[in-house]
Amino acid sequence: MQADLICVGNELLTGLIENINSGFLARRLWSAGIEVREAAVVADSTEAINTVLERALENSEIVIITGGLGPTDDDMTSEAVASALGLRLALDRNWLERIEKFFSGRGLKMTDNNRKQAMIPEGATLLKNHGGTAPGSIIKKEGRLIVMLPGPPNELIPMFDHSVLPVLKDFNRGSLSRLKTLKCCGIGESSLEDKIKNFGEWGLPPISYVARGYEVHLQIKGRGSEEEAAAAIEKAENRLRELLGDHIYGSDDDTLSGKVAELLTGQNITLSLAESCSGGLLSSLITDIPGSSMFYVGGMVAYSGEAKRGGLGVDKSLMVKEGQVSEPVAMALATGARAKFSSDLAVGITGIAGPDGGTPQKPVGLVYIALDNGRECYCKKLNLGGGRLAVKERTAQVALDMIRREALGVKRQQ
Ligand code: ATP
Ligand code: MG
Repeated sequence: MQADLICVGNELLTGLIENINSGFLARRLWSAGIEVREAAVVADSTEAINTVLERALENSEIVIITGGLGPTDDDMTSEAVASALGLRLALDRNWLERIEKFFSGRGLKMTDNNRKQAMIPEGATLLKNHGGTAPGSIIKKEGRLIVMLPGPPNELIPMFDHSVLPVLKDFNRGSLSRLKTLKCCGIGESSLEDKIKNFGEWGLPPISYVARGYEVHLQIKGRGSEEEAAAAIEKAENRLRELLGDHIYGSDDDTLSGKVAELLTGQNITLSLAESCSGGLLSSLITDIPGSSMFYVGGMVAYSGEAKRGGLGVDKSLMVKEGQVSEPVAMALATGARAKFSSDLAVGITGIAGPDGGTPQKPVGLVYIALDNGRECYCKKLNLGGGRLAVKERTAQVALDMIRREALGVKRQQ
């Protein structure tokens, strides 16, 4: 079953207000097995609302409209919906009374235009609104469900969860749509597409690509009964896992740092860090995970040469000879951290986050990440773009992926 979303408001079109409702509703609908076909943002105009509403009613069994249920002249959703559906607007005395009580209860004077909020399309079922006076409602007509919700998210969210979602679940007894996200890292969007370019021709369900920094997420869509949707997703997932192997680190709510924590904890492997250019970001990402004390021993931000030497025993002559940003120094940092913290694994990071400090030989964005596992110490060289924060962030992600691969025992990427 499909739904169309229509968010009404000039302020959404000017960018004054970010459209929170659309994302919230899309996530909730998908989790209820309802596919969102189209999400539109339209002006506070009866004509604009009517145009998208007609299209939505033609294509989807469920139409949800948010905003424009207030008392002012630019709130015209009720009128537009009533006219599109050929319904009259009628005064709802109970709702009027509720509005009057709402105002007197707050010691406020009710103005005449608030009466407008009690003009409801005939046949609509009004929904409880604990946060305001906007009349959210549901209309059932010719096999369609039309839902009107107030614009403010603090009114919309509880109203949707308490009064609308159960009705939608009951209404959607037929075909379901399910999503599964496979999360990949260490591969760019275009190389990834290249590996799976014939996917559509194998009779498998469609997938979409979402590039997110160091990661690419693949969303697989399955339709039908619960079993059919699950089987279609499984088939596609198996094929993707065959093609992408250990580029896939997890699915749905998994995170790269969470996966690292799971792998290290599961195998009783301890970790320590020596961070220079990442400034403790990797340590912060790791300690964001509850239970990280199970595997994370400790780390040191060794920024200056003196801190690298005094804190982690990096040889001064090595730093003079190779430079602080170099493969041997990254390796010495990892080895130094492993010895200092007595951990199984240790990562050493050194690089130039910029904007200053780059040279033609060692430009801004040059980063070395070394990993010492007690048997060997190996290093990865990165040439990163973007600003200072982007360099730090990407460095931390690549380091997490190196730890993940080490814990998985899979061939490391160069
Ligand atoms: P009210 O009775 O509060 O006027 P309403 O249904 O008429 O309710 P609008 O007038 O359209 O709602 O919007 C009121 C406020 O709600 C907006 O100024 C904005 O802050 C917020 N809002 C509306 N739509 C959205 C949206 N899609 N995402 C986030 N906030 C929104
Ligand atoms: Mg309003």
